[in-house]
Amino acid sequence: MENKWLDEKASECIARYGERWGRDLALRTYSGRLIGQEKELVLHGGGNTSVKTTWTDVFGQPIPVLFVKASGQDLATIEPDGHVALDLEYLKRLRTLPALPDGTMLDELHTHRLAAGGARPSIEALLHAFLPAKYVDHTHADAILALTNQRNGDAVIRDALGGDVVVLAYIKPGFPLAKAAAAAFDASPGCKGMVLGKHGLLTWDDDPLSSYGKTIELVTRAEEYLEGKARKPRKRRRGTSAATARARYGKVAPILRGLLAVPTGDADRPYRRFVLSPLVTEEVLDLVDSDRGKEIALSPPLTSDHLIRTKALPLWIDNPPYDDEKGFRERVSNAVAEYARHYEDYFRRHASRLSPGLERFDAMPRVILLPGLGAVCAGGDVGEAGTVRDIVAQTLAVKTKVVSVGAYEGLDEEHLFDMEYFSLQHAKLVGEELPLRRCVALVTGAAGAIGAGICQGLLENGCHVSATDLPGDPLAGLVADLRRTHDDRIIGVPLDVTDPKSVADGFGQVVREWGGIDLFVINAGVAHVSSLADLESEAFRRLARVNIDGTLHVLSEAARLFRKQNTGGDIVLISTKNVFAPGARFGAYSATKAAAHQLARIASLELAEIGVRVNMVSPDAVFSHGTRKSGLWAEVGPDRMRARDLDERGLEEYYRNRNLLKAKITAAHVARAVLYFATRQTPTTGATIPVDGGLPDATPR
Ligand code: ZN
Repeated sequence: MENKWLDEKASECIARYGERWGRDLALRTYSGRLIGQEKELVLHGGGNTSVKTTWTDVFGQPIPVLFVKASGQDLATIEPDGHVALDLEYLKRLRTLPALPDGTMLDELHTHRLAAGGARPSIEALLHAFLPAKYVDHTHADAILALTNQRNGDAVIRDALGGDVVVLAYIKPGFPLAKAAAAAFDASPGCKGMVLGKHGLLTWDDDPLSSYGKTIELVTRAEEYLEGKARKPRKRRRGTSAATARARYGKVAPILRGLLAVPTGDADRPYRRFVLSPLVTEEVLDLVDSDRGKEIALSPPLTSDHLIRTKALPLWIDNPPYDDEKGFRERVSNAVAEYARHYEDYFRRHASRLSPGLERFDAMPRVILLPGLGAVCAGGDVGEAGTVRDIVAQTLAVKTKVVSVGAYEGLDEEHLFDMEYFSLQHAKLVGEELPLRRCVALVTGAAGAIGAGICQGLLENGCHVSATDLPGDPLAGLVADLRRTHDDRIIGVPLDVTDPKSVADGFGQVVREWGGIDLFVINAGVAHVSSLADLESEAFRRLARVNIDGTLHVLSEAARLFRKQNTGGDIVLISTKNVFAPGARFGAYSATKAAAHQLARIASLELAEIGVRVNMVSPDAVFSHGTRKSGLWAEVGPDRMRARDLDERGLEEYYRNRNLLKAKITAAHVARAVLYFATRQTPTTGATIPVDGGLPDATPR
């Protein structure tokens, strides 16, 4: 592993942060980032670093302070304020206590912060406080884990790293580990570093470069040792091709997602769903297709701090019948049920040690391994699923390395349980969830004014949104805009609703991205102004293709997907006030939208038995959303302005004044009506919410 320290970059950090935070913390920030940016040292908020320096209190008195990484902070991008300032002298006194329960330790850490509020200190803060060195670096380096997770791991480490490294047997993080590490240091103060058994590496020194340099040096020694011992890899790979595996995933993802959903017992929200992220690489395929794949995959994890996201063990499916949908469903369903039984037994075996206030988690796996496909990872949203995927990729790679040099030996079950149900780890999990966090939506006609408003409303409520529209700048622009705030919870999927193949392909893209779809908002529509006397048949057909055929294609494909997923779902059709109160010279639009509306009502009749609710929202004139003008009004507006002798603003005023509430109707209003249905506030299907400010002629009846 390369030592990436550059004096000029370190000086830049001092120049940038030194005045406000001091030189010590500026350098801590710099070398912390070097560690964080090395994926083979730490993953997703793992690892932690600290510096001991001085803090000036309000009386101007300097007091000793420990700056330690805040819990959950990503070292790769850490800032000085990503560290928590703690009263070092007080923390050091804690070492004299014979024991300190987890909850009390957390209270002590929280109440001895030097700045109120803000971040939670790392649960390994005392490990840093009890070691006397100024800078302390703690990582979960892959190469070190590959050594310590072996039978006779201690001897392997000594052989690989030399005698100047202390090896500590596995101890659960928290007070006991902090005390044991400090005692081990006292016994060998001249040692170069400390390997924490089945956990990671600890180095320290009085300057940041030396401490960081020791981490790199020891990891390099471990890497070279592994390299030297490794048997030569086979030249040719034997696993399934990635293209075949991906095609299989597209077919089975909704089935897997449906089977993983946790029943809640709540009739309105009957499942707690997961978002899926596939890990389909040649390395993983070679492993799951190999003779020892199952044995390797079902061994305990490398390090215990990933357990809250991955659970201790994945689910393995033997010989999945990919070409037989019914057989595949049955095979996985049985395997999931067996996994759940084992999980419940495991919980019962250890429940007597459970911390007060904690309950059993759901018994579903977070990782499924399938020969001929790869790994499928599950999380509450795309970010969490991605974290699980990265952990699984690292775990499988390191385990493969281990078995190429020796025999893998992970933590025992008791330690796994204690870490999975470690109260201090749970603060890292999401508390209150946004209502649509676990939901995947597909919106058609997303690039228009109403579509954009709906996408935004869904995203703000935690939803994953696939924005679909014809390919082109409006769709690309919308997705780029929304990505700025909502990251990878929004994707753009170009599709043409008039073409059933394009619709099916678009759905397939969303399924491969997130595993399935729970909510369809059918919003694509076009308008045309003409009296019946002048209405050309082709103009009518053009509207029918989008407004009727397009609605039908989405409804049909959605019905098939919902049946496959088997966890219910929602469809919301954006209808129109014209269905109830049509306008003159607007025959093609009113008639085709009425057909779409009727199709959605039929869907509500047909899909209720599989738990799918279908409802309609009927807005009156929405002219724009932000800078996005309504395409429909670009078509209709000029005619209506001419007819009423009004300009654009006058026309908007006219529509506002014609409703009972004198309300200007916005895309955000339409989005809120969609959210009412999507969040399932009432047991309602086949119903219409008007969003029109009150138009007695257009009230649905
Ligand atoms: Zn650790």
